[in-house]
Amino acid sequence: MRLPYHVPLSGIDAQGLLSRLARLLWVAPFLLSLSFTALVIVWAQDNDRLEREASQRTVMADTLSLDAQLAARLETETATLRAAAARLPAPSAARNYQMATLPEIAAGLDRRWLSVVWLDVNGRIIGEARRELRRGTQTSIQSPGITLHLVAPTSDLRRPQTGQLIARYDPADLIKSKDFWWLAAQYEVQLVSGQDQVILSTETPGHAARGESYEMPFQAIADARLRLTQRVRQPHWFATLPVVLMVGFLALVTIATWLLRRQMNRVAQAEAAWRTEAAWRQSMQESALVGLRARDLKGGLLFVNRTFCAMVGYSQDELAKIGPGFDEQVQNAGNPNRHRNKSEGQETRWRHRDGRAIDVMVFESPLVDGQGQQVGWMGSIVDVTERKRLEEMDRRQREALANHARLSTLGEVASTLAHELNQPLTSIVGYSAGIATALQKQAQPDAELIEAAQALAHHASQAGDIVHRIRARLARREPNYGYFEVNPIVTHAVTLLQRDLKRTGADVSLDLEEHLPQVFIDRIGIEQVISNLLRNASDAMSGKNGARTIVVRTRLSARARVGRSESWVSVEVTDSGTGLGGHDIETLTEPFFSTKQEGTGLGLAICRSILESHGGVLYAEDAPTGGARFGFALPPANPSLEIHSP
Ligand code: ADP
Repeated sequence: MRLPYHVPLSGIDAQGLLSRLARLLWVAPFLLSLSFTALVIVWAQDNDRLEREASQRTVMADTLSLDAQLAARLETETATLRAAAARLPAPSAARNYQMATLPEIAAGLDRRWLSVVWLDVNGRIIGEARRELRRGTQTSIQSPGITLHLVAPTSDLRRPQTGQLIARYDPADLIKSKDFWWLAAQYEVQLVSGQDQVILSTETPGHAARGESYEMPFQAIADARLRLTQRVRQPHWFATLPVVLMVGFLALVTIATWLLRRQMNRVAQAEAAWRTEAAWRQSMQESALVGLRARDLKGGLLFVNRTFCAMVGYSQDELAKIGPGFDEQVQNAGNPNRHRNKSEGQETRWRHRDGRAIDVMVFESPLVDGQGQQVGWMGSIVDVTERKRLEEMDRRQREALANHARLSTLGEVASTLAHELNQPLTSIVGYSAGIATALQKQAQPDAELIEAAQALAHHASQAGDIVHRIRARLARREPNYGYFEVNPIVTHAVTLLQRDLKRTGADVSLDLEEHLPQVFIDRIGIEQVISNLLRNASDAMSGKNGARTIVVRTRLSARARVGRSESWVSVEVTDSGTGLGGHDIETLTEPFFSTKQEGTGLGLAICRSILESHGGVLYAEDAPTGGARFGFALPPANPSLEIHSP
């Protein structure tokens, strides 16, 4: 169904676009995951940058701090050296002077100094003190790396130009001092020359730290720089755990998306195949001329197609409401020919919603579900009403023809008999009359004999009449078919019988419908039928007191044939006679069935035979006003009937 505000989007159907978008839904989780991962990466990069900046700042602060502390230490040392220099004696009195006895020098050697040399103005050594000597070891301690010097002039106001005191110390010893343990744990501390050569390092070569580093001019040594390098290198942003996890997550999502897409494609293909199949099935079901019905094992309807609905006259919804009671609803039309055969199906009779019976052939096979379990029955139903009707019509036609032939033969026999009996019966009547006359002329007439002779003449005469009547009724005549209107035929028959009817005191009235369609009939045959019915009506009223009325009525009546309604022309003769006396039409139309003394019992049999040879029907019922109603109906002019016409 289209939306009322449906607008085509630049040639693409909006709903088509929507369904295309829906088909691309599988990519949504992937895109979301991708965006999420991108956000995490951006965050990681930013975080990394901030951490690096913070780290840089820390390194810088630590470098500055170390530089200041080292400078302070050296300043202290220089101050000590100066103090020692101030306390030195004059060079002239320095012979055999033990410099190590000076408390400042002793403290300096104990602390950090490797040696202290006293030079005069010319650079000659006046005195010397060494740490190893002071400690009592003879082995000279040679520093493995470079050594640095602290210089303090010995000259002052008191002793001008007396030289200088030089303290040699190991800068590595200074840097590796326990005082800076907290730095050594975090950083590699280096002294770098102006040519970028490492003068000193707290690390053994080959174990260089790789983290953040900062360097600055080292105050204590001209042209040297102090460099701090973090031991632990901060990992790159792409090597951090969240990013690694996110990449792993993305890989998993990619695989999941691919699987999802494959699954969706399969589902879409299956759905498309299912839709095609459903559409085919639907069109097959709807176009099938066979009724289709699926029932569960309890008899509840699962499915019916359109043909089935048309067959029984109920809509699908109504059938769904009827539920398992469906069979009782439609199958109560009697079932004379019911038989069951697996391959040939079951023939049964159902009742259409409008009340008419329909003959159907039901072919049922088990209905199985996807697991192969039987869940019900699938039935194909073929409407064989028309076939049965044609078969029935054919049978009746043949029966009517056989009846006709029998009646014709009978008529011929009766005619011959009548002809043959006529002469002897006339003779018997004549002779009996003659005998009676002769007996009357005798002197002593025997009354009994005369009576017997007269009775003989009377009965012979009656027998003659019967023979005449039979001959008249069964006179052989060839039918002559044509298109006729019924009303004039009725009027003609009534006119012909008017005198006879008047004699019995019957009052005939006509109730003829105008504009009736023509019918294809043998005019004289149908007129004979109407006359017969009129005569029977008149006979039925002859022994009855009270009003004697006959109403002849013509009508267009609806009759169902081949599953559809047709308009048949019917003629009904209603009398106020004795009624049917409990006899049905089958009994009344049996040849030679008669309740009349002088009846032949052939009239109605012939009427039925004539009507059935027209494809019509004869019926009889008790009239609601008392009396009987005999009627017949003729089908509308139909060329197919001409084939069956005798
Ligand atoms: P018949 O008239 O020679 O008896 P029919 O075949 O015409 O033979 O009629 C058969 C029987 O049907 C009659 O004997 C009568 O019992 C019955 N019948 C026919 N028409 C009527 C009628 N209008 N009312 C009552 N019974 C009738």
